[in-house]
Amino acid sequence: MAQEKQPQRKKIEATGQMMKIMSDYFYDLNDAEKSEDRKVAWCTSVGPAELLRAMGFAVHFPENHAAMLGATRMATELIPEANTIGYSPDICSYLTADIGAYLKGVSPLAKAYPGIEAPPHPDILVYNTNQCRDVQDWFSWYAKELDVPCIGITSPKNFTDVSDILIDDVTQQIEALIPTLEKVAGQKLDMQRLSEIVALSRECTELWRQVLETAAAAPAPLSFFDGTIHMGPAVVLRGTPQAVDYYQQLLSELQQRITDGVGAVDGEQHRIYWEGMPVWGRLRQHSELFSGLHANVLVSTYCSSWIFPDFDANDPIRSMAKAYLGLFIVRSDTYKEKYIKEMLEKFHIDGIIYHDAKTCPCNSNSRYGMPQRLEQETGIPSLVISGDLNDLRCVSDEQTRTNVEAFIEQLEERR
Ligand code: SF4
Repeated sequence: MAQEKQPQRKKIEATGQMMKIMSDYFYDLNDAEKSEDRKVAWCTSVGPAELLRAMGFAVHFPENHAAMLGATRMATELIPEANTIGYSPDICSYLTADIGAYLKGVSPLAKAYPGIEAPPHPDILVYNTNQCRDVQDWFSWYAKELDVPCIGITSPKNFTDVSDILIDDVTQQIEALIPTLEKVAGQKLDMQRLSEIVALSRECTELWRQVLETAAAAPAPLSFFDGTIHMGPAVVLRGTPQAVDYYQQLLSELQQRITDGVGAVDGEQHRIYWEGMPVWGRLRQHSELFSGLHANVLVSTYCSSWIFPDFDANDPIRSMAKAYLGLFIVRSDTYKEKYIKEMLEKFHIDGIIYHDAKTCPCNSNSRYGMPQRLEQETGIPSLVISGDLNDLRCVSDEQTRTNVEAFIEQLEERR
């Protein structure tokens, strides 16, 4: 298939506001580390961030830092640093890149934000294994290295329904974190404050859902690649008014695009679902590859993972447990397949791309027959791309291009 002239990536005007609030967030973290009055907690992406914010912690998310290492293409050279101290090249390349960056004394924050040298030193590390065991190993390494406490939630996994028994379990585990957090924070948990934070997280999540659902329009006003950038505030600022304000602004811009009939990809002809992690170091290339073929990768499981409809300010801790258990990655294949089928219908999808990320089996759903089962049930074809989220040695650009071009050609023949 002859590829046409590369179209420009369409700029989202709200990006400037997002960069500002992200910059404010990183400088605030940096200030918190230096302040005698404030404490810093590190938290996994779907860990109990609401609880930490309610107790006054400034919250750093190592996965966000690791994704920055990937997006700046620093990760691949840093991973071997962690390999030399015993962390396999086959395990999470967020973990190995982040620990590698620490060992090497480098950070993308230093380049992006003058005056910041590295992520803030933690006073406590708090994980939730709802996504994988790697986060616990990752945080445990820092706990030993930096001599700080490491506590967390060991989540049930692979269930279809979020039952009361599971919610009871995680609720109790969240409650059990409170005494240690109070000791480190030097203050008691204020339940009123926690309710306010949970309400803000709920609002953020609802707006983020509406942002992503604008892509149901044809043409879709945003792409998965836009989503991976604009999900930043939903990841690191959920529970704050800044994230809520930001998503109101972004939503209104995207709604205007729908009114004006403006799509993220000019001449959108093929609507694609992305299942799995992004390849952080190839966001631009992948975005241009698809848009050059008039295909819009417009929705994903990954970006939708920061939608938590279960947060409830009237029952904050139990609703947090329910929300963290509702995460896609922690569910059974039965649930996942039902979820993806609903998404395919809602977003009028023509084809699915599965990213089989070498170092993240938990977020690679192409290994146990799911693509074949879904294709049989829906008739929607799929393509599996081998690669990785951060380790570019696992990515073959040529093979990806050839396979994607052939896949889009296959979709064209079906029209
Ligand atoms: S889910 Fe995957 S990418 Fe995320 S921390 Fe776990 S192994 Fe790493």
